[in-house]
Amino acid sequence: MVVIGGGPAGLAAAHAATEAGARVTLLDRHPELGGVLPQCIHPGFGLKLYKEELTGPEYAWRWIAQLGEVQVFVETMVFAIEPGLRVWASSAEQGVLAIDCRALVLAMGCRERTRGMLGIAGTRPAGIMTAGTAQRLVNIYGLMPGKRVAILGSGDIGMIMARRLAWEGAQVVGVFEIMPYLCGLRRNYVQCLLDCGIPLHLSHTVIRVNGAKRLSSITVAPVDERLRPQAARAFEVEADTLLLSVGLIPENELTLAIGAELDPATRGPVVTSRMETSVPGVFAAGNVVHVHDLADDVSIAGQTAGQWAAAYACGGSSPGGKRLRIRPDANVRAVVPQLLVLPDVLEQGASLLLRAGCHHEGPCSLELVDAEKEQVLASKELPYARPAEMIHWWIPPRAARHLDRASQLLARIRVGR
Ligand SMILES: Cc1cc2nc3c(=O)[nH]c(=O)nc-3n(C[C@H](O)[C@H](O)[C@H](O)COP(=O)(O)OP(=O)(O)OC[C@H]3O[C@@H](n4cnc5c(N)ncnc54)[C@H](O)[C@@H]3O)c2cc1C
Repeated sequence: MVVIGGGPAGLAAAHAATEAGARVTLLDRHPELGGVLPQCIHPGFGLKLYKEELTGPEYAWRWIAQLGEVQVFVETMVFAIEPGLRVWASSAEQGVLAIDCRALVLAMGCRERTRGMLGIAGTRPAGIMTAGTAQRLVNIYGLMPGKRVAILGSGDIGMIMARRLAWEGAQVVGVFEIMPYLCGLRRNYVQCLLDCGIPLHLSHTVIRVNGAKRLSSITVAPVDERLRPQAARAFEVEADTLLLSVGLIPENELTLAIGAELDPATRGPVVTSRMETSVPGVFAAGNVVHVHDLADDVSIAGQTAGQWAAAYACGGSSPGGKRLRIRPDANVRAVVPQLLVLPDVLEQGASLLLRAGCHHEGPCSLELVDAEKEQVLASKELPYARPAEMIHWWIPPRAARHLDRASQLLARIRVGR
């Protein structure tokens, strides 16, 4: 079988599949394995799986060291997948490769949203880049992107880079967030912004970039409750660098090309609880499926995909069983997996990852509801609902046994009593 992408999802999938007896080829377009981890030199990885606080490179190395029999091709870019599972790749060393496989794991990760996707007015000066690009410049190449830095968006990468650049001597003038709430993890807000004295401006956005060859300033405006900038109250902030931390997009060109169903809410493939897509034999895991907060969860999903892909590769098909669809409903933006394989769930329970579609600082309940009968089949109390923080819901087999009464489920967050 073939795994595309050597980040934490692909590494875990390749490892689990070899352990399960499959012959695995792992392909990655970068010269090194690890995906985004080699540039994430801050600690915070591995707390869940290893109960240790590791840096990104240390976490990646734990997985790379376990690859064993896996055949690895780096600097190898997959550019097409044919039906019947022939994978086409272009390799720096081997030229064009055509690899036939019985099962495939998609683990291509995601990419950052760029200025072009935001449509900010102004000129095209140097000094505007994504937070991940700045991270690569500083942490891999040892280059500083600028001296006076502003950050648009309160995503995790932006907050981590705010701290990193402040530590390297830059003046970080502020983080500007269009939403009225933080869009990254609270721990990053405390450790990266509060601890470094970097101001966070909620309900503010950049409406113009100014400068000829190099960025000289940005024009910032507060937004109203419908996120419309209030130009009359705009002000100018001097900056030679603007980092964009405004969201990640799952990298799904190949997924679309093989005809897998995509979920508009996650922008990733619809997957079963076995991480199988709608194309038989094609599995997916990690940020290609939906954007995760933690690399540990990515690795766990990769293991599931790898185990089931190996079973498919060795057995020729997926073991059967009724699939139960879950759709996001009130106050839920997305739920993964979108399909539960009932025999597995009744035996082993179900693990769901959800994104809230509302921001509520107070107790609320998460419910799985029979879509036809409007009957609550499982529920969980939450201390709050924040769109930036993924909700983990483990439904043990005892609680999951009611789920097979429904033909379709709705996931809801009930706010207030
Ligand atoms: C800046 C930053 C900070 C983070 N901080 C933390 C943290 O503190 N703690 C934590 O737990 N998590 C953190 N994360 C999250 C974690 O790193 C990601 O969730 C995780 O790396 C996603 O893993 P992945 O395998 O899905 O994708 P990636 O790591 O992105 O790997 C995908 C791989 O696929 C390859 N690829 C893509 N397309 C192709 C193709 N066509 N052919 C061949 N190869 C291809 C890419 O080259 C890449 O190597 C952070 C992420 C970022 C970006």
